[in-house]
Amino acid sequence: MSMILHNQWLCRPISKFIFSNLLPTTYAALVLPPKHVITCSLFVVHATNAPFPPHGVEEFVENDFDEPKVKILKQKVEVLGIRFENSCLPGQYYNLFCPKCKGGELKERSLSFHIVPDREFAMWRCFRAKCGWCGRVFADDKDLYSRSEERLGLEPLGPKLIAYFKERLISEETLSRNAVRQMSDSKTVIAFTYKQNGLLVGCKYRTTGKRFWQGKGTEKILYGIDDISDAAEIVIVEGEIDKLSLEEAGFRNCVSVPGGAPGKVSSKDLPPIEKDTAYQYLWNCKEYLDKAVRIVLATDNDPPGQALAKELARRLGQERCWQVHWPKKDEFTSFKDANEVLKYMGADALKRIVEKAEPFTIAN
Ligand SMILES: [Zn+2]
Repeated sequence: MSMILHNQWLCRPISKFIFSNLLPTTYAALVLPPKHVITCSLFVVHATNAPFPPHGVEEFVENDFDEPKVKILKQKVEVLGIRFENSCLPGQYYNLFCPKCKGGELKERSLSFHIVPDREFAMWRCFRAKCGWCGRVFADDKDLYSRSEERLGLEPLGPKLIAYFKERLISEETLSRNAVRQMSDSKTVIAFTYKQNGLLVGCKYRTTGKRFWQGKGTEKILYGIDDISDAAEIVIVEGEIDKLSLEEAGFRNCVSVPGGAPGKVSSKDLPPIEKDTAYQYLWNCKEYLDKAVRIVLATDNDPPGQALAKELARRLGQERCWQVHWPKKDEFTSFKDANEVLKYMGADALKRIVEKAEPFTIAN
């Protein structure tokens, strides 16, 4: 029965039909891996019900290995044992030896292998019924990231939120580098994506009306942690928008606390790490923070913000902490945070003010 089905497939001409059938199946498998799907670090997927690509050995004419994406794909499939002796032109199907079943007794070239025309991924399937090995590898690892985003219901920022940030002098370039997104079913909800080693590990949402909440299962870490992975000098701010503001002023070595500020400084001794729940994000990032010799605290200019600076300094070691003093706005008030300074005084002024941070003293 299954052989008849295979033969039908083998007789089909190459067409987009193959893709439209294969893609949703494999894609769904990547998003929510069911039991029969194995995903490995190379993002290989085994799906049982993907159709068979057509048969046909192609002539090798050109050498496509020089193309960067084809090169990456080649390296990735070689790890899996797939070899293409000569060139493998995108958009064509090739019959190669299957590293799993080795083509059976007849030593058939049973592995149908294909690089999609835009070179984004390569896919294959062994057409021997007893084997049926299939999978995909991607030329760009970011694919994994964008799939995690889709799973969370995130999409790139639309014009409304881009305008919201523009009003706060945060550029599209900064938003894009920090992978700021919006919820796809609620286009006025900002999603600050929390990444570690380039992977999505959490998300904090914010309405334009300043309501916050956190994605389920979000890791307790600093926002922007990858930006301080090798920094000897770092800046800590009190909100994601302040981190983006610092970037506008030229500081990428900046992280934000994930959860705002405490009401006041605790009068008690520091609790042991495992009981220090409100600051777990610091201990989870200890490895990163330990490398910093100079830590500039640029929290908000209000009592909770100042309490936060003190609590951070207590944990990080006051001797390596510096504090930013936000300038006066007028006779009676001072600027509140990095974004307010950026908005009213500009990026250069913000840069100068951060550079003028003074050694932290508890009396501050
Ligand atoms: Zn096979």
